[in-house]
Amino acid sequence: MSSPAVTSSIPENEPLTVVGGGLVGSLLALYLARQGHTVEVFERRADPRKGENLEGRSINLALSDRGWRALQGIGVEEAVREVAIPLYRRVMHDQRGQLTMQPYGKEGQAIYSVSRAGLNQRLLDLVDQEPRVQVRFNQQCRRVDLRNRTLEMFDAAAGSNHVWPYQHLFGTDGAYSSVRAAMQKTDRFNYSQQYLNYGYKELTIVAGPENSWVIEKNALHIWPRGQYMMIALPNLDGSFNCTLFFPYEGAVSFETLQTPEQVRSFFEEVFPDAVPLMPELEQEFFENPTSSLVTVRCYPWSVADEVLLLGDASHAIVPFYGQGMNAGFEDCTILQGLMAQYGHDWLTIFREFQRQRKPNADAMADLAVYNFEEMRDRVADPRFLLQKKIESK
Ligand code: FAD
Repeated sequence: MSSPAVTSSIPENEPLTVVGGGLVGSLLALYLARQGHTVEVFERRADPRKGENLEGRSINLALSDRGWRALQGIGVEEAVREVAIPLYRRVMHDQRGQLTMQPYGKEGQAIYSVSRAGLNQRLLDLVDQEPRVQVRFNQQCRRVDLRNRTLEMFDAAAGSNHVWPYQHLFGTDGAYSSVRAAMQKTDRFNYSQQYLNYGYKELTIVAGPENSWVIEKNALHIWPRGQYMMIALPNLDGSFNCTLFFPYEGAVSFETLQTPEQVRSFFEEVFPDAVPLMPELEQEFFENPTSSLVTVRCYPWSVADEVLLLGDASHAIVPFYGQGMNAGFEDCTILQGLMAQYGHDWLTIFREFQRQRKPNADAMADLAVYNFEEMRDRVADPRFLLQKKIESK
């Protein structure tokens, strides 16, 4: 079946439709509204600010230059900076608890630790202030009918399905995108997903007295151990979000850590300086899910003037380069430039967008996989450390 290119008779001032009100979807809605469009956002989850949603991932994210530029583009940089912690260097913890450091840039340059939930909530607050945007929560897109330009939505609050027409649809519904799923059924749509043999698990280093940070606050901490690693990013409340990246199978893997005793003795052996700071280690290890790591590549990212994918929906990458969200935010910057240039010519905007962005997204996907090896292994190599020392002089 070839891609349907239906020319709709709906007038140009019909609202634009966004599926997925996560990090990229909420920023995109702001960008579209600032261009003068009315926007309707459909989000599967409940409003995360109303405390009903326990599903959202709690991990921290590193926000860097391309992300800041996108936030700056609509003047929300300062609102986000209030909840961000600068990280000036990475600090490596060896197996004896000794520390080495590598600056992230010249003096004063930093990447920033932000909570995923905190950032999403801040963006949604900003969306609320934008009269042109309406966000509908509890709305799961189940099917996209590209030929008729309709969405089949499940309303979780009402427990019923309903159909919404759209004119131009933006798919920002993440790595397992329902919008992309409809495109996958069209002719000559390329798609691949590649999982790592590693999963990740979130753990916590707790805050010290009076919400103090018990290891250096302004750093990304890494416990590189060759075939696996743990990292930690600071939170505003003094705690750290740790992520263990660990093989699913093999001699040292999730399958070999089956009891609380095995977890404790393994951590005491390989992460001895972290264990005393993780009082809920065993409980968290068994209660928190083990999540997978996927790279998604696809092309094209658009259907005629009808649909465009952005963020993880079009280019999900593994997290080791800290660029997934940043790249999704940068998608908004690029789209904004094209909207300014081409007005309502969505066909040209969508084609130009994918032409410009695809090579960058592919490069980022490759770098992200490559950087896993660097973080878990090469950053602990004495030759690498020496070289870094020379470079930073
Ligand atoms: P998502 O964040 O996945 O949001 C998608 C939204 O769509 C969600 O709100 C979801 O509820 C909604 N949705 C999904 N399906 C439907 C549907 N059918 N109908 C309606 N709504 C739907 N990136 C960085 O830049 N820096 C980092 O340090 C970093 N660290 C990471 C660490 C880990 C462990 C992982 C897994 C990722 C990390 N990333 C990082 C990547 C980053 O999380 C993603 O790139 C980013 O979340 C993509 O945003 P998104 O809005 O495209 O997708």
